[in-house]
Amino acid sequence: MACNACSDIQGTLTVDVLAQQRLPDCVNRFEDFGYYGDDLDFTYLKKCLACGTYFAEHHQDHFEQGGAVVTWIERIEKTKAAVLIPKIIGKVESAEWLKAKYSLAKLKAELKRLEKT
Ligand SMILES: [Zn+2]
Repeated sequence: MACNACSDIQGTLTVDVLAQQRLPDCVNRFEDFGYYGDDLDFTYLKKCLACGTYFAEHHQDHFEQGGAVVTWIERIEKTKAAVLIPKIIGKVESAEWLKAKYSLAKLKAELKRLEKT
């Protein structure tokens, strides 16, 4: 079943940031639940509002090591989203500016909803 809002991303889509490549615009319209990780290696959890599919958006910066700056996004199962949300909650709880940006209540409600399905 194709969803118009997210069909640009099938499976895993990788872009080379240093080569000025970007993820498709549809990613900007996804719901953004926040991220976990550190400055060099972090993962966002996003969701297509049209069909409810979850996506993990990874960023890896190995520029200092002479490597690439890579971003990739992948469709993930609900079970995987349920694994990522507690990590994001831990991250958001660790910093005031993240608490201001991302709603812990929303994250917890989403996790509860996932655990019921
Ligand atoms: Zn969709």
